[in-house]
Amino acid sequence: MISFRNVTKVYPNGVVGLRHVTLDIQQGEFVAIIGLSGAGKSTLIRTINRMIEITEGELVVDDVDVSKLKGKALRLFRRRIGMIFQSFNLITRSTAIKNVLTSLVPDMPWYKTLFGIYSKAQKIASLEALDKVGILEKAYTRCDQLSGGQQQRVALARTLNQKPTIILADEPVAALDPITAKMVMGDFAKINEETNITILINIHHVDLALDYAKRLIGIRDGEIVYDGPVKNVTQEILDEIYKGKDIPKSEQADVQG
Ligand code: ADP
Repeated sequence: MISFRNVTKVYPNGVVGLRHVTLDIQQGEFVAIIGLSGAGKSTLIRTINRMIEITEGELVVDDVDVSKLKGKALRLFRRRIGMIFQSFNLITRSTAIKNVLTSLVPDMPWYKTLFGIYSKAQKIASLEALDKVGILEKAYTRCDQLSGGQQQRVALARTLNQKPTIILADEPVAALDPITAKMVMGDFAKINEETNITILINIHHVDLALDYAKRLIGIRDGEIVYDGPVKNVTQEILDEIYKGKDIPKSEQADVQG
């Protein structure tokens, strides 16, 4: 379980990223975080693996106080959390399978990483991860020859190979066209259903959040203004989350009631 207790983040320049956030996320949940640009979505996600340090409150993941982790314990904790970015962060001159294999590097002796010596079992696991996201046939293609959607799927396979219990995805479909974005969201939903990995997605597209996630967190100016099942979301709730600013037509959801 991920547990925020009265968490506040104030950046060194005085800007408040999060204000008194309290929420619990159970293992296996699929949560979308929505809000205007600058609302604090990315800050919320990145505090969980300590890419961003909180300034007040308590953040507990599976009974461990995250702020107290140091050295090896922090490294091991981070290994359990997969991170997916908008920009994929792949080694684009390498093949898909080599990128997926790199997720194993922190656990390998230095001489094996130096020469890229991977065991048969590691190679099979990496191919299985590529298969899970539907791009096994691209295993030996260089990433710079893959489409954006395929590259994001390689990134997802690399994260899966790390055997995470949590996946944090920071705007994972923002760089993709609408059809590809749906496919990648479908991958997240399938992985969540099949593996019970907790998935948190910071997403700009309200309609995709509502179509694929199960729980929605709406954030405005660092504060949680909605937290509940996707099926209970109404237009009034979306108006509250996006108060004061228009949501571009292309991103508005067609919500009933
Ligand atoms: P979102 O992901 O919803 O667009 P962010 O979490 O990135 O929002 O940002 C929340 C607020 O914190 C914004 O006002 C943003 O400008 C500010 N912020 C984010 N990162 C930093 C930083 N490194 N230093 C100072 N302010 C930051």
